[in-house]
Amino acid sequence: MTKILIVEDEAGLRQGLEINLRMENYETVLAGDGEEAIRVFHAESPDIVLLDLMLPKKSGFEVLDHIRKFSKIPVLLLTARGQETDKVRGLRGGADDYITKPFGLQELFARIDAVMRRSDATSLTTKTICEDTLIKLDPSTREASAKDQKLKLSPKEFDLLMYLFRNKERVVPRDELLSRVWNYRVDLNLNSRTVDTHVTRLRRKLQKAVGTDAAVIVAVAKIGYRYLGEASNAA
Ligand code: CA
Repeated sequence: MTKILIVEDEAGLRQGLEINLRMENYETVLAGDGEEAIRVFHAESPDIVLLDLMLPKKSGFEVLDHIRKFSKIPVLLLTARGQETDKVRGLRGGADDYITKPFGLQELFARIDAVMRRSDATSLTTKTICEDTLIKLDPSTREASAKDQKLKLSPKEFDLLMYLFRNKERVVPRDELLSRVWNYRVDLNLNSRTVDTHVTRLRRKLQKAVGTDAAVIVAVAKIGYRYLGEASNAA
């Protein structure tokens, strides 16, 4: 059962969330301030955190910062309307998504589902083999091949390809690649050129192995990259 840590100082909202999430078959643990949040986080090892930003004792940002030192579990911020800069700060600080109060329960459930799904897909420690008609990546041996030809990938190229593969149903933003594949603490000085350079090198290796000019990984202007695999040959 998925365990959710609800961090919210407003007692009514906290209890409302608790009741409704339990009815959806989530296990819940609660915290009413920032210090309690950190305590409960360590004691209960939740699978996901719903985190209010304005909290007594320690702010949501401090809690987020603390959690990110230990864990990559999904953190969904509960923000108030008009806190635009807070949302950006929270996302750059490693939050996975935010939801603006007041929100409907259906929206909350949908967002929880989405961040949980993404977190499964984005875990680089999962040892499941990634395979389609074009490539095969084995995370336990770190072996990579394309059309049965061995690929010589650097560790970062391997992680990058695996990450794009696991998220192939969407375009992955450069910022996300930097934070997930490179483990960059996301700040304002991040350099998305790092991502571009690695993708270029990776593409060259893939094309050499596959022997076509088809773009296995496509760039989506101003956003990021998407793995298309062999589908790109048909296009
Ligand atoms: Ca609050």
